[in-house]
Amino acid sequence: MHHANSYHIPSTSISKYQESTLTILSYTDFVGEMTAALYGHSHPLIQSALINTIQNTGLNLGGTTLHEAKHAALICSRFNLSKVRFTNSGTEANLHALAGAKRFTGKRNVVVFTGAYHGACYMFAKDKPSENVVDRGDWIIAEYNNLEDARVKIEESEDVAAVLVEGMQGGGPCIVGSGEFLQQIQTSARKVGAVFILDEVMTSRLAPGGLQELEGLQPDLTTMGKYLGGGMSFGAFGGREDIMSVYDPRIGTALVHSGTFNNNTLSMVAGYTGLKEVYTPEANREFNKLGNMLREALQKIGQGTKMTITGLGTIMGVHWLEDGKKEIKSYSDRKDISDLRELFWLEMMEDGYWLTNRGSIALILGTPWEELENFVGRVEAFLMRHENLVKM
Ligand code: PMP
Repeated sequence: MHHANSYHIPSTSISKYQESTLTILSYTDFVGEMTAALYGHSHPLIQSALINTIQNTGLNLGGTTLHEAKHAALICSRFNLSKVRFTNSGTEANLHALAGAKRFTGKRNVVVFTGAYHGACYMFAKDKPSENVVDRGDWIIAEYNNLEDARVKIEESEDVAAVLVEGMQGGGPCIVGSGEFLQQIQTSARKVGAVFILDEVMTSRLAPGGLQELEGLQPDLTTMGKYLGGGMSFGAFGGREDIMSVYDPRIGTALVHSGTFNNNTLSMVAGYTGLKEVYTPEANREFNKLGNMLREALQKIGQGTKMTITGLGTIMGVHWLEDGKKEIKSYSDRKDISDLRELFWLEMMEDGYWLTNRGSIALILGTPWEELENFVGRVEAFLMRHENLVKM
């Protein structure tokens, strides 16, 4: 197998690289559909549930269905929610959760954090909303993992309806929020009566009850998506009964929550089958233990190099930092050496491991430990091969 051993891969190497990819029949998928493909791409139980639904039930039925009620009950019990509502995506889940929080409090502003990603129209890459963010005037941006900034922005700003935060920022990739930081947000939000919304679109897979269980948090609302649709398009938001009642259609003044495919039968069936039969609490714990083992093994071999591994359980990020700083607390600490990141990405692909260009890994359930161990060996070989580039 060919290894490019210089920064700039010459064109002859590119053709060799293309040749070499032809010899690889399969990749270990570490992209995992950005955490959504937890069950892989063709899990037999989910496949047969989907086929059975297509053959015997039909695709979408207009009204509410038993499938929807079953999935709702299971999600409420796993994630400790009083009520849940379904959407087509995580973006929409945040959209409706925020609208609900604004109605409930009668206020407008939302505190979010630098580097946050809450969906296609909710990106806060730096300290400003990105151009395509909706309601551009309503955002107050605090620094991620900065307790004092969170406290001041939540408690001392005007008209705060909600605080929206990821317990681990997926886009980082994988910048972990400290327990104290997340508790501070909860305390400050309670103090001023703002709705604390925990975005668990990515993190709900990290423990049977999500990251909120790991951190002992009680968010007012939780937003979800990804694997909870079993690989089909999906989103959900839920939590406190009094807040969710702003969407209760029996109340004349309720907010409308419409959407043709909100409860689409295939998402409900695939999501329910996966959560009930495959990703049981025991399977969840075992899987995340495996992820922790992988992360710790990578952190160990990265000592003394520019490589830093962040993450929790089965979701992690590989960073290449000029100063080799091992702690990445917010977007501003993340000054990746882009050439090294790119080289790592390409060479890991040559070795048969497919991760995202930005360096995130989301494991797929059932990936054998031997494949993860082999990956650690490939990364170690990379660090040795490029010792002059990666050493501190
Ligand atoms: N919130 C977080 C934390 C996410 O990671 C994502 C998706 N990457 C979203 C929201 C948006 O979800 P969707 O892509 O389903 O709209």
